[in-house]
Amino acid sequence: MRKIAILGSTGSIGTQTLSIVKEQGDLEVSAMAAGHNIDLFEQQIREFLPRQVAVWEERDAHELKTRISDLNVKVHYGMDGLIEIATDADSEIVVTAIVGMLGLRPTVAAIQNGKNIALANKETLVTAGHLIMPMAKEYGVSILPVDSEHSAIFQSLNGEDASKIDKILLTASGGPFRGKSKEALNHVTLADALKHPNWSMGKKITIDSSTLVNKGLEVIEAKWLFGVTPEQIQVVVQPQSIIHSMVMYVDGGIIAQLGTADMRLPIQYALYYPKRRPLSGERIDFAKLGQITFEEPDTKTFRGLALAYDALHEGGNAPTIYNAANEAAVDLFLKEKIKYLQITEIIEDCMKHCSIIDNPSLDEILQTQHEVLERIGSRW
Ligand code: NDP
Repeated sequence: MRKIAILGSTGSIGTQTLSIVKEQGDLEVSAMAAGHNIDLFEQQIREFLPRQVAVWEERDAHELKTRISDLNVKVHYGMDGLIEIATDADSEIVVTAIVGMLGLRPTVAAIQNGKNIALANKETLVTAGHLIMPMAKEYGVSILPVDSEHSAIFQSLNGEDASKIDKILLTASGGPFRGKSKEALNHVTLADALKHPNWSMGKKITIDSSTLVNKGLEVIEAKWLFGVTPEQIQVVVQPQSIIHSMVMYVDGGIIAQLGTADMRLPIQYALYYPKRRPLSGERIDFAKLGQITFEEPDTKTFRGLALAYDALHEGGNAPTIYNAANEAAVDLFLKEKIKYLQITEIIEDCMKHCSIIDNPSLDEILQTQHEVLERIGSRW
């Protein structure tokens, strides 16, 4: 039995990870953490029987303890709780399926305790890739991508010499507002932005997909995971989400990974790497599919992607400013406190005005987040 820990078991990636555990039958969840959904978390604990769990709030931990007093499960809470789960002694691999920079400290702790990381929480690599990748090397652990595009690149690199990459072709659906003008985006509502054409995901990443900030975060994630320059990463819009990404090699050959829009495949691939296992689900029928089309991304209307390249070129803590500003702006948009187009305006404002630090330490990354939150809090 391969033992795993899951951070964010009640979310979109977390629940799909648990469905794989159920389907495969030879994985054991020894620890898991959730945020606030203790009803679902209780059901998951009863079904998967981890030895220890964590929730965010102390009062939820007390409530959960009472509810599961018939089970032998240790309950933790807060950041210390997340770190307990991330460093669970029995787990070989930690699935980081929480949202945002909250994942930073638990991921670092997991690596320092020798855990392999099935990484969904892209914000960690975006803000601290320069620390995480060397740290993973130092502790001899693997960072296995769960993001479908990065899993596709990882699969396309299998058995190949990574130094022979010419470029990475990172595919994008274009989101629900592909083809729309800036004028039209002025009238976008929260409900419109929460409707992704192809993928069913958590709220934050769904909004990020609509602004193309998600693609921007993925460009930065790809740089760290695959050791390429920003110029070697080209975003290609492929609206049907059939090609999950491609690698072009120095001889012009291109290797791609294709499949239905089902996150269980990249999650399972990360959990069993380097083995492939059978997986239930729909298969692509190319005759029915008819066509796969390609476009250039509209970076003038969707500034989110262009700003990510700016952050990469600036370097240092600029990707943290980009990411932290986006997290805060999306939160405001989800609470309907700002308009849709203000998300990228806020990111741009913070990138112009927050202090740049070269080669930031973990503390400096968290300080940068603080500075960004203060600026946004005082203006919006
Ligand atoms: P969801 O919003 O669906 O789930 C987030 C999870 O994090 C929930 O389990 C939530 O718990 C938990 N959580 C939130 N706050 C806390 C907290 N303070 N302490 C502990 N746990 C907390 O997100 P997704 O699954 O969509 O995304 C997770 C990550 O994976 C993100 O970084 C995203 O970018 C990335 N990703 C997601 C994809 C997808 O298809 N969904 C695809 C590729 C990447 P609760 O609900 O109990 O509050």
